Amino acid sequence: MAHIAIVGAGFSGAVLARQLGQAGHRIDVFDTRPHVAGNCHTARDPASGVMLHTYGPHIFHTSDERVWKYIRGFGEFVPFVNRVKAVSAGRVYSLPLNLLTINQFAGQTFSPAQAMAYFAQIGEPGEGEPANFEEQALRLMGRALYAAFFEGYTTKQWGMAPAALPASILKRLPVRFNYDDNYYASRHQGIPREGYTAVVERLLDLPNVAVHLGARFDRAQAGGYDHVFCSGPIDAWFGCDEGRLGYRTLDFVREDHAGDHQGNAVINYCDTTVPWTRISEHKHFAPWEQHADTVVFKEYSRLCEAGDTPYYPIRLVAEKALLAHYVGRARREPHVTFVGRLGTYRYIDMHVTIAEALDVADRYEACRRSGEAMPSFVVDPLG
Ligand code: UDP
Repeated sequence: MAHIAIVGAGFSGAVLARQLGQAGHRIDVFDTRPHVAGNCHTARDPASGVMLHTYGPHIFHTSDERVWKYIRGFGEFVPFVNRVKAVSAGRVYSLPLNLLTINQFAGQTFSPAQAMAYFAQIGEPGEGEPANFEEQALRLMGRALYAAFFEGYTTKQWGMAPAALPASILKRLPVRFNYDDNYYASRHQGIPREGYTAVVERLLDLPNVAVHLGARFDRAQAGGYDHVFCSGPIDAWFGCDEGRLGYRTLDFVREDHAGDHQGNAVINYCDTTVPWTRISEHKHFAPWEQHADTVVFKEYSRLCEAGDTPYYPIRLVAEKALLAHYVGRARREPHVTFVGRLGTYRYIDMHVTIAEALDVADRYEACRRSGEAMPSFVVDPLG
């Protein structure tokens, strides 16, 4: 059996530790933070009793039956539908764009077919694949809806004009010609009854898995292991010696209130006149709990500097060129596999992270059986 190091105790690292630990390997998991669960970490607030999503709201959603079955083996997921509201020019709307949003915005009573015909009219024409976020939005919904809901929010979230961003970011959000206001289109959606931290703790709970918190893993330690799985930032693995990959980080400004402060889990603020992107009220992520008091967080996005928590990989042309350098070096690194949002520098959700970690573990076992070398990446980070 192998002696394996796993860098990072988020979902990638924890799922790998569980799968490879169950296969009988001896595992050391390292995380620089004093807690497990990475950016999904949750902790009960001593003052209000509310379960807080320490690094911002996380709503689990997936259409992958394997992932849904797997993760529920480590904790109960209570059904939860994320119904986001958005404030734009002094009015409240429903998000993602659905028939209610369209009708409220246009002051109409369109049926689904009428709304579709309206969109065909207001969408700006274009040829070929949309080159960027703005083009994609203008073709789909026209200037007015784009300006009301996407232009300002995206500029604040990414710190640049939407024309500089890839169209793929907009594709995360559906447009619906019915009154379905579920933010996600996934078949399954839920929030762990006891929080994400408890789920990750259970994943890591095996006698042959040792978790080292507040412990930085240095590249020089890799030689002491048969294999290393790194879910930390790929540039940091190399000491960022060719430059730092761009990320957005978030600042959360906490406010404590009594009762119900905003009446919903998440409200987005789409205008640039408001400096925050959204406000989340965490007790609404656990509607099965009762709390007299409430905690809300205003979320501000900015460029990630050294020492900040990386959240969103930026992946523009410059970042991709730098990423290609690091990926080239990673491919020459013996016995190391890079995984997860930070290890592969991709904007992926929790369920994708879990699916990929399961695949990586399967691949490792298959490689051991066949004698083939374990690849540095199981998903191409440049793809
Ligand atoms: N977005 C927007 N307005 C909104 C919500 C989202 O313009 O009210 C854009 C923004 O560029 C954001 C992207 O859509 O980065 C994806 O949104 P999502 O809610 O998936 O982002 P996350 O929850 O991962 O921050």
